[in-house]
Amino acid sequence: MKRKYQVLIVGGGNAGLSTAAQLLRKERALSVGIIEPSEKHYYQPAWTLVGAGEFDVRDTEKAEQDYIPEGADWIRDAVDSFQPEQNQVTCRSGAVYTYDALVVVPGIQLDWSKIKGLRETLGQNNVTSNYAYQTAPYTWELIKNFKGGVAVFTNPPTPVKCGGAPQKIMYLACDYWQKNGVLDKTEVHFVSGGTIIFGVKEFAKTLEGVVKRYRIKTHFHQTITEIDGPNHTLYFEGKDPDGSLVKQSLTFDMAHITPPQSAPDFIKSSPLADPTQHLGWVEVNKFTFQHSRFFNIFACGDVSNAPTSKTGAAIRKQAPVMVEHLLAFLQKTPSNAQYDGYTACPIPTEYGKLMLAEFDYSNKPKMTFPFDQTVPRWTMWLLKKYVLPWLYWHRILTGKA
Ligand SMILES: Cc1cc2nc3c(=O)[nH]c(=O)nc-3n(C[C@H](O)[C@H](O)[C@H](O)COP(=O)(O)OP(=O)(O)OC[C@H]3O[C@@H](n4cnc5c(N)ncnc54)[C@H](O)[C@@H]3O)c2cc1C
Repeated sequence: MKRKYQVLIVGGGNAGLSTAAQLLRKERALSVGIIEPSEKHYYQPAWTLVGAGEFDVRDTEKAEQDYIPEGADWIRDAVDSFQPEQNQVTCRSGAVYTYDALVVVPGIQLDWSKIKGLRETLGQNNVTSNYAYQTAPYTWELIKNFKGGVAVFTNPPTPVKCGGAPQKIMYLACDYWQKNGVLDKTEVHFVSGGTIIFGVKEFAKTLEGVVKRYRIKTHFHQTITEIDGPNHTLYFEGKDPDGSLVKQSLTFDMAHITPPQSAPDFIKSSPLADPTQHLGWVEVNKFTFQHSRFFNIFACGDVSNAPTSKTGAAIRKQAPVMVEHLLAFLQKTPSNAQYDGYTACPIPTEYGKLMLAEFDYSNKPKMTFPFDQTVPRWTMWLLKKYVLPWLYWHRILTGKA
């Protein structure tokens, strides 16, 4: 195995594989190494549908090996630290790799332990999360067997991957319970660290109607501090309008938890992190994905500090721009490619209906289709359930879309 690459990629997830494939499609002779510890690759967007009983979790997992593009080396290791002045990374095994250009795409870290008691109870005591491959099927077990009572869905105050995912499963659960005569016997709570239901007002309006329809009680500006699984109690706190801290608790019959999230610890503690943000995102130019201080380093996807919603849909527009700038850097030519903050969040509002929220840095809708996308539609549900998974495995990871 080589120890020096023209392009070294940290992370073989959505962004890492798409970037490697796109680079090699443009420059076949480029030497590309991908450092990725996991033997498996996951299509995470389908975990929402797994939790709703609409997708087989086994179809979201594939062998990483099958998606390493031809011409790239897979280095089965994990990066531990960066030495950008020496153009070098050090792996957990102690191996050192050098590069001409570095792509940093290790995704986001799920901070389960920031909620006291969560790790111990997750996957049992009616506490679940679609944010893990192991527990997404348990969400469906709980929804299907729910007989009424109190159901809680949480959303942390930090950015999360797919900002809409914490509420998507809530709407599907409500619809399922409504159709099965359970919703009338149920109190549904959305406990959120956010300040509103959705950041783009056109899409928020639709969701406010959905929240009303299912009689969901919303609690904004809240941080979950603890969960007591055996006693089915959730503890959270938030500031009231006069600024004083109010602590509350809820006894639940089922809880779907979205954990707080941040940049992986090895990024946070590295010289690549944005020193102005405590969550440790990699500091890049939000239009080009070039690092603000180390010009041969690039980062996009969930780990970057680009102020947009962290989604695979965003990566589909980010990766080609980053690839242009990276090649321009290597070839010492200019590039005018710019990313406009595009991201998309497909939000199912009931089984068979979905609102495809698309927007950019200006938080204005940026719709792909020639119809009003603030209206949930069956065609958009089909897009999420069938078209996007196919597109991911066959076109996006292979650098064709
Ligand atoms: C429940 C859920 C629902 C979602 N719904 C949607 C949706 O509807 N639409 C949408 O577009 N997106 C959705 N997403 C978000 C989408 O999955 C992510 O935005 C996307 O996967 C991010 O890609 P990434 O490459 O940045 O990170 P990832 O795909 O997570 O890949 C990161 C990779 O880096 C590797 N890595 C970690 N540490 C190291 C290290 N030290 N060294 C080397 N490699 C390392 C990891 O093993 C991993 O393979 C959803 C996510 C979840 C969890």
